[in-house]
Amino acid sequence: MKIELRKTFQFEAAHLLPHLPETHKCRRLHGHSFQAEIVVAGECDERLGWLIDYADITQAFKPLWEQLDHRYLNEVPGLENPTSENIARWIWDRLKPGLPLLIEVQVAETCTARCVYRG
Ligand SMILES: [Zn+2]
Repeated sequence: MKIELRKTFQFEAAHLLPHLPETHKCRRLHGHSFQAEIVVAGECDERLGWLIDYADITQAFKPLWEQLDHRYLNEVPGLENPTSENIARWIWDRLKPGLPLLIEVQVAETCTARCVYRG
């Protein structure tokens, strides 16, 4: 049985988007309650009845969460231009080596705007 698991994490962070015109609101320093959704997929273990432990996703994401939560994202190495798109790729690049079942990273900066990256 092929299955997909999704786990959502929240982090609070500040950023500005340095390449936008001075008049754009996102050029000003502001914050978001970001949500990152981590999606893994693969063959379900028939005996255990699960794909992997959700706790394994949490453990893999924790070092990244610590670099993101309550941070000024522009100061995080690799996130000098911290758009949702770049944050999603940043998470993917760091998560995939230790979480090979990863198939998708979503980053939402508001309730109505989210970005999907699949490597
Ligand atoms: Zn923003």
